[in-house]
Amino acid sequence: MNSYLPKEKEELTELIKLRRMFHQNPEIGFTEFWTTARICEYLEPLSCQLLYGDKLKAALLEPDLLTARQNQLAYKVATEKGISDPWIEKLQGITGLVAIIKGKKPGPKFGFRVDIDGLPIVESTENAHLPYREGFASSNGFMHACGHDGHMAIGMGLAKRLAAAADKLNGEYYFLFQPAEEMIMGGKIFSTLNFIEDLNYFIPVHIGLKSERKIICGLSFLADKRYHVSFTGNSAHAAAFPEKGKNALLAACQAVTGLYGISRHSEGYSRINIGCFQSNNAVNIISDKVEFDLDLRGQFNNINEYLATQAENIIIGAAKMQDVQCSINVVTEGESADNSPALMLQIRKACLDIGIPEKDIMDHYLISASEDACIIMNKVAKNGGLATYVCIGCPTYGGHHNEKFDFDEDVLLAGVKILYQFVQNTQEKQ
Ligand SMILES: [Zn+2]
Ligand SMILES: [Zn+2]
Repeated sequence: MNSYLPKEKEELTELIKLRRMFHQNPEIGFTEFWTTARICEYLEPLSCQLLYGDKLKAALLEPDLLTARQNQLAYKVATEKGISDPWIEKLQGITGLVAIIKGKKPGPKFGFRVDIDGLPIVESTENAHLPYREGFASSNGFMHACGHDGHMAIGMGLAKRLAAAADKLNGEYYFLFQPAEEMIMGGKIFSTLNFIEDLNYFIPVHIGLKSERKIICGLSFLADKRYHVSFTGNSAHAAAFPEKGKNALLAACQAVTGLYGISRHSEGYSRINIGCFQSNNAVNIISDKVEFDLDLRGQFNNINEYLATQAENIIIGAAKMQDVQCSINVVTEGESADNSPALMLQIRKACLDIGIPEKDIMDHYLISASEDACIIMNKVAKNGGLATYVCIGCPTYGGHHNEKFDFDEDVLLAGVKILYQFVQNTQEKQ
């Protein structure tokens, strides 16, 4: 992938420039105002129809999901920066956008999804870290440590190519620049976009993940369900009247032990973790309030449903044992999704067509992480469309979600070329 035509060299230079611009200005979930503004600014002159702000909201079948999640405070901060940025005003407090390119003739509907959020990580200031060494590391306490800066560049580069070719294309092309992937929340909101059920093809893209230079035509993720659990009992003097207390701490500890003891499932693997366990009573008080966060993940949706049923029984049972109250709130959830073998084959063919050797193309790979694009993939598949999750694998120095995360920037061009070739191949078939 290292010898380029002069035009490709120019294109890669532009993709790198875009990636570095986003890298230097990361924003976390539902605060991606500057990011959304820059994407709009870039795409508008390319004759893309843009859905942002109220137009984006109007395209959602469940717009209330969006309202509940938007960070109005971050919007206020963004607009009060004092810098003239007309685009931020136009966003009306809503992050993310959809860009639509319409071909000359009717034809299939394509959806491409890239995520746009960063992470709350302070970026490395070591010289060995290339973004720092080359002066495009972030300094705002957030970081694109998962490659979403690169995903945006790929989405914008592909949109640019397709917009330029629009008068020769059939069909419609929808680019989802989705907020808040890291929170496993933006995908659910975007899954209610009014065109999702009509898509014939849907492809989310990720860089890295498998630290090898391989293209994965069908990447799979774990289903995920996250809870906030609380136990409420009665406080009492721990020495004088312990029998008058109802011990929330004991119930929570018994619940935690029980949760880690949930049996594995024969049909696939699972993950259980408890984090942020809090009890604030003094040592001479029977604990009356305990909270913790629970994360359940399963290889398939049915495994996650099994984990959820078991977990809820255990929590309720532990509360009963100590005669305390419990509340179990689902914070967020993500699904697993099947990749369409037919679409995976088309991605494989596109890779071969642009000269990627067979040995560098993989069909399946399961990663122990979750992705909220799966919920969109399932909706597309349910309505007869084809969906697959494509990974442009490469070494990720430091690894994902690490302060030294980085990737080989030439994968940006590979991503654009594969998806563009895939579109070209579908055109030939008609
Ligand atoms: Zn991530
Ligand atoms: Zn990611």
